Amino acid sequence: MMSPDEIARLVPAETAKFRSPIPTQSVSSDEFMPGPQTPKQREFEARVKAIGSELAKKQGMSRRRFFQGAAGMAAAYVAMNETYGPLYMVSRAEAQTPEMANARANALKGQFIMDMHTHFLRDDTRIMGFVASREAVGKAGWNPALAGKPQTIEDLKFANYFKEIYLDSDTKVALISGSGSEDPRDWMLTNEMKADARADVNKKAGTKRMFSHAIFMPGMPGWMDKVDKDYETLKPDSFKGYTVGDNTNKHLAKHPWHLDDEKLMYPFYEKLVKWSKTTPSLANVCVHKGLFPPSITQRFAELLKYADVSDVAKAAKDFPQLNFIVYHSAWRYSGNAHMAGWEQFEKTGRIDWVTDLAEIPAKYGVKNVYGDLGQIFAQSTMAEPRLCAAMMGQLVKGLGADHVVWGTDAVWTGAPQWQIEGLRRLEIPEEMQKKYGFAPLGAADGPVKSAIFGGNSARIYNFTPQQRAALDGDKVAIAKAHYDQHALLDGGGRTNLRYGYMRAPAA
Ligand SMILES: [Zn+2]
Repeated sequence: MMSPDEIARLVPAETAKFRSPIPTQSVSSDEFMPGPQTPKQREFEARVKAIGSELAKKQGMSRRRFFQGAAGMAAAYVAMNETYGPLYMVSRAEAQTPEMANARANALKGQFIMDMHTHFLRDDTRIMGFVASREAVGKAGWNPALAGKPQTIEDLKFANYFKEIYLDSDTKVALISGSGSEDPRDWMLTNEMKADARADVNKKAGTKRMFSHAIFMPGMPGWMDKVDKDYETLKPDSFKGYTVGDNTNKHLAKHPWHLDDEKLMYPFYEKLVKWSKTTPSLANVCVHKGLFPPSITQRFAELLKYADVSDVAKAAKDFPQLNFIVYHSAWRYSGNAHMAGWEQFEKTGRIDWVTDLAEIPAKYGVKNVYGDLGQIFAQSTMAEPRLCAAMMGQLVKGLGADHVVWGTDAVWTGAPQWQIEGLRRLEIPEEMQKKYGFAPLGAADGPVKSAIFGGNSARIYNFTPQQRAALDGDKVAIAKAHYDQHALLDGGGRTNLRYGYMRAPAA
């Protein structure tokens, strides 16, 4: 798949200034620009620098070098716990003992992870917002992978996507998603491009490493004919839609819709029911919800009623044969609004619209509603980890641990490894478990997290144990082994590239 030379070129140069192994502030995709640091985030940054300096000195290495290793990652989570209280499973011993930290990382790196929410942009894209987003994140030192080098649009295209997903992270299988627009030039990728990427990756891998969405846009002229044609020619693994219509160019959004619009949507669902008899994964209706913070609400008030989950229950009830997978778990408070989410939770025990989503199964007696973790996890786990824990608690309690699915929205915020590591270590604090009746999330490879990381998507996408076994030793596995080896030789030790915190030099 890749020659050693090609792999060597992917091994990134060290360019960053301060490189904390975890970002110290939230980053966002949809409402892209992260806000200013909160006092707590500043406290974390000071702590992680201090603990890094202390432990690096003991190891006889630079702080930056220390943060490139698994022990540095552990140290950062120690700093998180000291700042926010015990939320992450980590010990000082792990931070102080590189052998121990490396053994843990190695023991987990084979974990089965299906990331069913990933993106890259087409070669001729006009969408530049994500460059600014990655750059802002890098400049602020939040995600050290993105620090120290200006981001370019190339970082959002296929080559870097492949590197960040399959080489810089423990992700085993990914679904390439996208978003449509009223302006045909502003589709992130056309449905053909997503199908082509899937064909390309799977052909080179010799296994099924990539799944693909086709985007449907209800109400657009000829949309159902397009659905038919995409089904016949592209064979998507599932379809995805955006109820606000045009999410990229919200000012152009002329065709918002509701999931429970019988006239508009039910004929489409009937088709999916029919097609799912031969292609089971087409029973999955993926729908973007949430990411509608107050700033966006102000500008696009007319779209607000399409962004929440009030239309999910009826559709789910009327089509029990389908699975309604709510992307972002309908989390509203993206961008710099996470504090509003935390305040709402503290005052009321509710979080827009995560709580509404989580309550659907009990309220309406349905079993076919799922929550995807794209952005909701990334933007809360470091910025406000108690909010993150509360949302995970609500989703697992309400939807079931078998109805929460892993998605990262990578590569909007760099390689997804820091998110993987975050969920592996996150635990809901005991007082919160007691107060709200949340079950613990458990060990990194325990039943709850294993289901979320891969088991659930394997089930609803019909990814067989044979397909899974075939990944061991396929061309991607071989390329990754080479890549890790190069990183080891190059850096004289494990590098943060294992965690996706370093980036490739410009080609
Ligand atoms: Zn997305």
